[in-house]
Amino acid sequence: MMNYSIERKRVWVAGHRGMVGSALVRRLQLENCEVLTVSRSEVDLKDQMAVRAWTAREKPDVVFLAAAKVGGILANDSYPVDFLYDNLMIEANIIEAAFRNGVEKLCFLGSSCIYPKFAEQPIVENALLTGALEPTNEWYAIAKIAGIKLAQSYRKQHGADFISAMPTNLYGPGDNFDLNSSHVMPALIRKAHEAKLRNDKTITVWGTGKPRREFLHVDDCADACVHLMKSYSDFEHVNVGSGEDVTILELTQLVCEVVGFKGEIVHDLSKPDGTPRKLMSADKIRSLGWKPSIDLREGLAATYGWFKANIN
Ligand code: GDP
Repeated sequence: MMNYSIERKRVWVAGHRGMVGSALVRRLQLENCEVLTVSRSEVDLKDQMAVRAWTAREKPDVVFLAAAKVGGILANDSYPVDFLYDNLMIEANIIEAAFRNGVEKLCFLGSSCIYPKFAEQPIVENALLTGALEPTNEWYAIAKIAGIKLAQSYRKQHGADFISAMPTNLYGPGDNFDLNSSHVMPALIRKAHEAKLRNDKTITVWGTGKPRREFLHVDDCADACVHLMKSYSDFEHVNVGSGEDVTILELTQLVCEVVGFKGEIVHDLSKPDGTPRKLMSADKIRSLGWKPSIDLREGLAATYGWFKANIN
């Protein structure tokens, strides 16, 4: 059931250079709307006055808030200020400027790490704030929880139609493949690819390989966000996931298969496992009429293709 049309609207994708933002820009090409973007050199999203001025001038009708400082388990743990302060500023500036300038609808994008470390699995939306967070990414998580609450506060106090979507671990074209700051999927693609080229006997994964993670292709995520923009208007955030998870070891085996690396998998136990399991319930988004269309192997193969084509 659609309740909001983005047809002929001016749609701002904040964070259009990122993996999610660029997928949103691709997805919005299929819609009859005008996509707005602004470069980092033109507007620093951490600068309130710059964000207000740009928003007042460009007058978007619709905002996808996909701009964020993001990174994997090690980056999160090493740069707490960047993950907390940068994200608080970016989301507060954009949400405030959107309201001030009469934006009709905004979708804030968060992350599955907002949930308690030991939340019951699969994690339902109302598990938010029922327990302590995973310490390796709590800086990012706290910023994202504040973003959800800020969107809710504008709905409660001013009736603004601001919603929030919480994607699971995403992967796909445009991902960060730097081994020190990336998430697990791009890291494994790169490691397997390089190990194959060097004829290595082994590939090293961080931790025990036992943690379970859910993965969603970023094009599915973008499609879900557009779907929510058109069909969902309520307080509570909505999980955006596949509803299925794998162990890190299973993921490594799949990556090695797709890449064609036949060596042995070894573990670096000096690196953290992070949260033991992070599978979100997909019931709510399914009941809203959306499901993913790209399965893990197919999405991984496509992402490996993108990596090889864009390696430099
Ligand atoms: P998380 O979902 O916030 O924990 O973030 P990551 O995607 O960075 O890590 C997911 C899991 O994959 C953790 O248990 C990591 O220890 C594990 N992992 C295994 N090998 C790697 C690797 O090379 N890079 C990263 N980032 N994680 C890895």
